[in-house]
Parts: sequence; C-alpha cells; structure tokens
Amino acid sequence: MAAKDQVVVVGAGVVGLATAAYLAQSSRYAVVVLEAEEEVAYHQSGRNSGVIHSGLYYRPGSLKAQLTREGRAQLLRFCQQHGVPFALCGKLVVATRERQLTALQELARRGEANGLERLEWVDGKDIPRFEPYARGVAALWVGDTGIVDFRQVAQALARQVEAAGGNILLGFRVEGLHFAGGQWRIWGRRGEVAARGLVVCAGLQGDRLARRAGLTPAVQIVPFRGEYWELAPQRRHLVRHLIYPVPDPRFPFLGVHFTRRVDGRVEAGPNAVLAFAREGYHWSKISWRDLGETLSFPGFWRLVRRYWRTGCGEMFRSLSKAAFCRALQELVPEVRPADLVGRGSGVRAQALDRQGNLLDDFAFSEGPQALFVLNAPSPAATACMAIGRAIGERLKAILT
Ligand SMILES: Cc1cc2nc3c(=O)[nH]c(=O)nc-3n(C[C@H](O)[C@H](O)[C@H](O)COP(=O)(O)OP(=O)(O)OC[C@H]3O[C@@H](n4cnc5c(N)ncnc54)[C@H](O)[C@@H]3O)c2cc1C
Repeated sequence: MAAKDQVVVVGAGVVGLATAAYLAQSSRYAVVVLEAEEEVAYHQSGRNSGVIHSGLYYRPGSLKAQLTREGRAQLLRFCQQHGVPFALCGKLVVATRERQLTALQELARRGEANGLERLEWVDGKDIPRFEPYARGVAALWVGDTGIVDFRQVAQALARQVEAAGGNILLGFRVEGLHFAGGQWRIWGRRGEVAARGLVVCAGLQGDRLARRAGLTPAVQIVPFRGEYWELAPQRRHLVRHLIYPVPDPRFPFLGVHFTRRVDGRVEAGPNAVLAFAREGYHWSKISWRDLGETLSFPGFWRLVRRYWRTGCGEMFRSLSKAAFCRALQELVPEVRPADLVGRGSGVRAQALDRQGNLLDDFAFSEGPQALFVLNAPSPAATACMAIGRAIGERLKAILT
C-alpha cells in the first residue's frame, strides 16, 4: 500500500476540526491537528452564541449563503448521528420602529431567495403568540434557526478525526512554518512536524500565521469582543427561544439579542467592542503587541473615522449595565437591570482591509500546497462542515 501523505491542520476550533474530519476520511492522508490550547474549541468555537443560523441574512449567491445552507443541513445530521443535543426552536426578528419595516421586508426576501422553508411574517399584535414578552410593530418568524453547544460539536468532531486515524496534538502552539522542497516544516516549542499539505484555521491568529508562512494577506484580523449578560433563572420565562433586532446591514454583528441555550440558560448580547488583545475576554486583558498592531493598521483608522459614534455607543453599553439593559428593553420592555446576572464573552476574529472595510464573506488564501483561513466570522460555526469540505476538496486538488 502506498504511504499516506501527511497533512497538518493548525487549529482545533470547529473549522479546523471539520476540515481534519473531512480529510481523515480519505485513505490518502494522514492527518495531524496542532492546537495551541490544552482543549479543543477554547476560543471562538467554545465562546459563541450557540445559534444554528438559517442563512437568512446573507447576500444570495455569496459563499456565506451557500455554505451556511449546506453546512446547516450537515450539522443537523451530524448532531443526530453523534448524539449532540440541539433544538430547532426558531427565532423571531423584531422590528421595533416603523422605519425598520423596509429592512425587515428585505430580510424576508433574502430568506426566500436563500431557500429558507419556515418563514412567516408576523403582525405586531401577533408577536406575543411567538414570544409573549416581546414587543414590536412587526416581526419575521424564522423556523429554521436552532441552538446547539458548539463545544460539544467540536468534541464530537475531534472523536471522529481520531476514529478515522487522525492525531490531535493539544498544547502545540505553532511558532514557525516554512515551505521548501515540496514539504512544509511546522514547529513550536513542543517539536517539529513535516507535512506535504497544510491548512491553517487559526481564528484570531490566522493572519499572523499566514504572514509567518510567507504570505502577504491584504487583511488584518481585528479582535472585537462580544459580551453577554445572563438572565437570572427566575426571569428566563421572558424569553421562549431567540429574539433578535433587525440588523444594520453595515454591521450585521451589531444589535444585542436574547438567546436560549441548549442547557436552558438565557443569554442577552453580544455587543461588539474593540478588544485590547486578540484573546482579550475582558477589558483588563491588554496585549501591547496586539493593540499596537491594530492601532498601526491604516484600515483601523479608516473604520474609526467612519463609525466612531457607533463604536462609542457599544463601549458605553459595555461599561454601563443600565445602558445595555435599555438596548434589550427595545425588544423585551419587561427586562430590568437586576435581571442581568453572570457575564461571559467571546472575541470575534474579524478581518479588516486597508480601506477600513470589515470583510463580510468567508475568505481563504492559498500558499504552496496550503490553504489559510483569513476570515471565518459568524455563521462559520453553523457552516463549519461545508467550509471543511470546501477547504478539503481544494487542498486535495492542490496536492494532486
Ligand atoms: C461572540 C461570538 C458569537 C458567535 N455566535 C455564533 C453563532 O451563534 N453561530 C455561529 O454559527 N457562529 C457564531 N460565531 C462565529 C463562530 O464562533 C466562529 O466563526 C467559528 O467558531 C470559527 O471557528 P474557527 O475554528 O475558525 O476558529 P476558533 O474557534 O477561534 O479556532 C481557532 C483555533 O486555532 C488555535 N490556534 C491559534 N493560533 C494557533 C497556533 N499558533 N498554533 C496552534 N493553534 C493555534 C486556537 O487556539 C483555536 O483553538 C460567533 C463568534 C463569536 C466570537
């Protein structure tokens, strides 16, 4: 039997693990996953809202729209097969002002164009039928939305990789990558690994590793922290499922919302504030290197010049519980600051270009016998299996 080609996947978030699981199924590849942390899904994949997105928001025909629909169906099958609990509970997108109705109609149109099956327009007076405590002038019921714990998805994917003969090396922080003579050398303090093919799915560190491998990506990752409050257990009845505002198309990730988790908790958030470190899960975590890189990137100042007001509003809501609560009261007037208890957060790896544009779509870059993920924002957890398949197929094509 011919020797297998070794392929290294850097990063054991859901995107890296789904890619590894796809490649490990092929008898041609010996797959090794290198993960800096001591557990899988330690960063974005384990600190997100846990929403299985329906594909409602995305521009029809975009990579996001395509991969989300395909990935969502695969994810649901995977959860069923691997005993990962999930619920297709649906979500309500609520217009709280007349001026949001046009945007809500546009969402309904996009949803249809993207093939969503369970969409329903809800008049203001009927909102309580779906969410008894939500108020608005109209809403869109999106039945295809669900919830899952993506950390459990990652753990199940890791088991699948290992069952197919792949290796996952935890605590292996990649520090250098070099391509010569048809082989990659990938090293860190834990040792060195050689590989014929390389995939880098390093989330918040994705652009840096691409640069270390000799690429010159035109984007830089800017970390935006998303902070959550949890509803006190005795107030969880205020939210049945998921309640979202109508998104601002310029900032699709803005707008705090309510999310029920698979374990029954209800979270409110996330907001979006600049993190002072790539893994900056709270205000006090500062990395001068990370912050210096953000502040010296021209795209960051172009973004600030355009949207400083929005940014200040997000910071204010981060520092003031009363202000955060006021934003939530737009959707559910009964919620009170005292109802908001424990806090959590995640940091988004958001790619920004030099012109100050936040990249909306998934973005990848190719190197010799290698692929680098440069932007995998929400809903990349929902779409992880479709992204993993797309990356895997492309790598196979490059390697043959
Ligand atoms: C607040 C928030 C809410 C979100 N909500 C949702 C949601 O509800 N639904 C949804 O579909 N998506 C959501 N997302 C997006 C989703 O979580 C991400 O798109 C997805 O998890 C990206 O997965 P990943 O594997 O690319 O990145 P990550 O999960 O960040 O994984 C990257 C991995 O690479 C490792 N790594 C980094 N550098 C190195 C190195 N040098 N050597 C070795 N390993 C390294 C890291 O330790 C990490 O484990 C949300 C994201 C955030 C932050």
